[in-house]
Amino acid sequence: MPSRDHPAPAADVTAPPSRANPERDDLLKYEAILNNASVGIAFTRDRILHHANRAFEELFGWPPGGLVGQPGRVVWGSPEEYAEVGSVVGPVLARGEAVEVERQMMRRDGAKFWCRLQARPIDPVNPATGGTIWIIEDITERRHAVEHLRLLNEELEQRVQERTEELARINAQLKEEMDDRQTAEALARHLALHDTLTGLPNRLLLQDRLSQALAQAKREDWLVAVMFIDLDRFKNINDTLGHAIGDEVLREMARRLKAALRDSDTVSRVGGDEFVIVLRHVQAVADIPLTTSKLMADMSTPVTVGGHQLRVTPSIGVSVFPNDSDDATKLLSYADAAMYHAKANGRRNVQFYAATMSDTLQTRVKLESDLHLALARHELEMHYQPRVDFRSGKVIGYEALLRWNHPEEGPIAPSVFIPIAEDSGLIMPIGEWVIREACQQMKRWRESGFAVECVAVNLSARQFFDRQLPERVSSALAEAGLDPQSLELEITESILMANTEETLSLFAELKQLGVKLSIDDFGTGFSSLSYLKRFRVDNLKIDHSFVRDISTDADDAAIVRAIVNLAHSLQLHVIAEGVETKEQIEYLTHCGCQEAQGFYFAKPMRASEVPAQVAALEGELARALSKGGAGA
Ligand code: C2E
Ligand code: MG
Ligand code: MG
Repeated sequence: MPSRDHPAPAADVTAPPSRANPERDDLLKYEAILNNASVGIAFTRDRILHHANRAFEELFGWPPGGLVGQPGRVVWGSPEEYAEVGSVVGPVLARGEAVEVERQMMRRDGAKFWCRLQARPIDPVNPATGGTIWIIEDITERRHAVEHLRLLNEELEQRVQERTEELARINAQLKEEMDDRQTAEALARHLALHDTLTGLPNRLLLQDRLSQALAQAKREDWLVAVMFIDLDRFKNINDTLGHAIGDEVLREMARRLKAALRDSDTVSRVGGDEFVIVLRHVQAVADIPLTTSKLMADMSTPVTVGGHQLRVTPSIGVSVFPNDSDDATKLLSYADAAMYHAKANGRRNVQFYAATMSDTLQTRVKLESDLHLALARHELEMHYQPRVDFRSGKVIGYEALLRWNHPEEGPIAPSVFIPIAEDSGLIMPIGEWVIREACQQMKRWRESGFAVECVAVNLSARQFFDRQLPERVSSALAEAGLDPQSLELEITESILMANTEETLSLFAELKQLGVKLSIDDFGTGFSSLSYLKRFRVDNLKIDHSFVRDISTDADDAAIVRAIVNLAHSLQLHVIAEGVETKEQIEYLTHCGCQEAQGFYFAKPMRASEVPAQVAALEGELARALSKGGAGA
């Protein structure tokens, strides 16, 4: 395109061609065409510019005709660039072909700009000699536009990329949140249906499993056994060794229960130390004892926790579908009632539900509320059971045993109400009353002329750990005007097992008072020898569960013999509890034990009956001895 500064030469292409010189006319015509072309056109030969049209000159900032005779190199920025383009274009032209390239070229003032170059040989047949036609177009703007577009595109791609990444991130986050929620929901579901301590199914899941088991058993004509298991004296472990140890014991029991049963059976934890088992596919009631014996043995094996060797025994109650009921709730409460009977029956045993047991549970709830009033209503009473030295035939002391004369229910056994008193905290006022009452009774007996050497009272763990205990004991003794040797405190082994500085100092404080101390129910808690050495008690009382079977069970006989030997080696008195038969006395004598307490000599009795009954008992023992045998 012609520029304003350099108007096209005055070649009027519209004027009629001159007839006089047609060649010149043609030349002028071509000249006009060339000069009016909007692209730059140049002709080179031997690297010299022979011709350049106006557009070419304007493009490169040369005056008209200024380029003619100049080397081609003048429109290039450097010799290298010139050489480079020559190396690309030259071989193509040499073949007689046209070529097109885009390169930066240089104006006369040194400014560079982008051009598209088209080159073709004037004579394709003879390219080397004919010279070259160059058509040059300024593509700076197009390049800018393309570059701009490229940048825009890049920016867009960048944004798309960022957006995609953000979306992916959001997506991942969402997925993570969903996963988290699913995990949380699964966890919540698990927690809602399982016990956190042991991981066993809880009561809710138990009910579900039990209903399923019953439905299936109905269809397939099986029996289902429901077992309610409570750990004996578990509270003592918690009270004396602390909850961490208690928890560990519970976990271990849970593990043992699971290991002892099939996967299709359900083991659940429904309360502190209460487990419920559902046995499916039971063929006959007679098969159930196989399982209960296994559970009894597995659970009673000593557990070592935190350096303590503990023996935890279970009391088990069993109800059976459909014999006892076909209702899940009833089966559960029947098994529970049977378990209470197992407890009342001396613990560490199994009871099958019988119709007469079902009132037990409701009674327990009522009992707790009645027990709150028992002290004030004077419904509590102490009974006394003599302790006998069967070698000398003398009564050497008494154990004070609490009785509750319920206004409607009649006498209630301590095995029933002491646990309730311990659970509810009522044991504190009741226990204090027991100590004072025993002291007062000794005072009354002595005042009446009846000689009593010593009375033993039972202490619950909670009482033992009461810091006020020594003070309460000494004031009870003082009020009755008794010397401390007249009172003996029976504590259970579990208290020793705590074996802490606190236990030791409480123990020492009581010893300092001068009262006697004895370990009750010895053998059931598996306390170790070292405890006995540290605590220096006066008496060991062998639990009646061992004494009960000494004539029939070799293991129990061996245990009793070992306890007697142990006690003697530590210079302790040993007293056998629950002696009921002559054979038991014979075995005890054989082992070297000479003190006992049991129905064989006397049952616990009212204080008022003691003087007469003891006189009769001692008379009988003297006669028997004179005939030549202890208790014979
Ligand atoms: P324990 O201290 O081991 O008391 C001995 C239990 O064995 C008494 O049961 C007694 O009646 C029973 N017994 C005695 N001789 C025989 C026998 O020959 N055969 C059988 N089968 N049993 C015999 P009881 O009076 O029912 O007391 C049960 C438990 O209740 C006691 O066991 C004791 O742990 C607790 N207890 C009783 N009175 C009190 C109390 O005042 N305070 C506390 N904390 N616990 C008490
Ligand atoms: Mg006792
Ligand atoms: Mg006992």
